[in-house]
Amino acid sequence: MQALRRTLPRMRVVVSPRRWLNLQEYQSKKLMQDNGVTVQRFFVADSASEALEAAKRLKAKEIVLKAQILAGGRGKGVFDSGLKGGVHLTKDPAVVGELAGKMLGFSLTTKQTPKEGVKVKTVMVAEALDISRETYFAILMDRSCNGPVMVGSPQGGVDIEEVAATTPELIFKEVIDIFEGVRDDQALRMAANLGFKGPLERQAADQIKRLYDLFLKVDATQVEVNPLGETPEGQVVCFDAKINFDDNAEFRQKAVFAMDDTAESDPLETEAAKYDLKYIGLDGNIACFVNGAGLAMATCDIIDLHGGKPANFLDLGGGVKENQVYAAFKLLTADPKVEAILVNIFGGIVNCAIIANGITKACRELELKVPLVVRLEGTNVQEAKRILSESGLPITSATDLDDAAKKAVAAIPKK
Ligand code: ADP
Ligand code: MG
Repeated sequence: MQALRRTLPRMRVVVSPRRWLNLQEYQSKKLMQDNGVTVQRFFVADSASEALEAAKRLKAKEIVLKAQILAGGRGKGVFDSGLKGGVHLTKDPAVVGELAGKMLGFSLTTKQTPKEGVKVKTVMVAEALDISRETYFAILMDRSCNGPVMVGSPQGGVDIEEVAATTPELIFKEVIDIFEGVRDDQALRMAANLGFKGPLERQAADQIKRLYDLFLKVDATQVEVNPLGETPEGQVVCFDAKINFDDNAEFRQKAVFAMDDTAESDPLETEAAKYDLKYIGLDGNIACFVNGAGLAMATCDIIDLHGGKPANFLDLGGGVKENQVYAAFKLLTADPKVEAILVNIFGGIVNCAIIANGITKACRELELKVPLVVRLEGTNVQEAKRILSESGLPITSATDLDDAAKKAVAAIPKK
């Protein structure tokens, strides 16, 4: 139990192995635009010269240049080029190229990114509008309501976390009946709670309804607009956009999922996903090859108990094919931290002989350099053991998980 508790904090990812697609702001805004939601005019650029061109083409009174990364808090972020702020306003299109040059290719660190930040590959060049007031608005799937809920605050903008923490009474919620959709009175009440007055109240309610239509149409799990602002000219505009999508809807949201930008994900995770494998990187030196998240937890835990540290784990899931086993081994050994591999397969649906064949093929073709400990149990296990022992490969067999973990830890070269 002690060991389990020690392992668990690092393993939180295991509990939700599912990934929710996250799009860049410009991609989300394109979806909004296509659905009649009001956003400002914009172009996208991936070089300083393109950004400068876009700024001139906009012919706007004022321009806003925004770094595109899959994290919020950009306004208050810092680049490793020294530039402060991932969102810049300027009236002079001529300076946009220079500013973009200090963003593109550099890493932007915000309170939502890792310490080392995220490299910026794209910027958005948009028409800036005066904002007289910034509100916060989001629609999300909420487990406690068994459906969608709208959340809003009249005090939106870059300090929304602070508002939620210090003045929770300024956060308003409206539970949506999935069968009924957003009712007029609900949209108007939310608009009023957001502080929109007079004709702006109707306009905001209209935007809210359109955002909900989009939420449903694209199978979103979250649509967040911060700020949903008003301009001095009396327009309600979505100035920022963050949409997350339900991965289970991929089959009917092909166009949306085709926009997936995997550049910011762990490349090993992305590669694993291609073979229907789940890869999670950890910080030790024993690679774990398992089937099922529960078994992954147990495996990491027992390794921990015997004084070792898992380097990663790769979850094979059910219905395994030989080429997946091969791909899995290639991925596991691609991590230079790996000094031993532990295979722990408990085959119910999984046929152990397929795993054994995949393992021997991978060992030969990849010229495996690190010790390999294998524990197989379940369907066709005798045949699997025969394949492994007759292979002539230096594979250590283990009788159970405890034995496997002990042997894997012992196999690590002493430093
Ligand atoms: P983030 O949430 O990542 O910090 P935002 O897009 O919300 O990025 O931008 C931060 C702030 O910059 C906004 O709260 C707003 O004050 C200002 N801003 C963003 N877009 C515009 C725009 N088109 N015109 C004027 N100001 C803008
Ligand atoms: Mg924002």
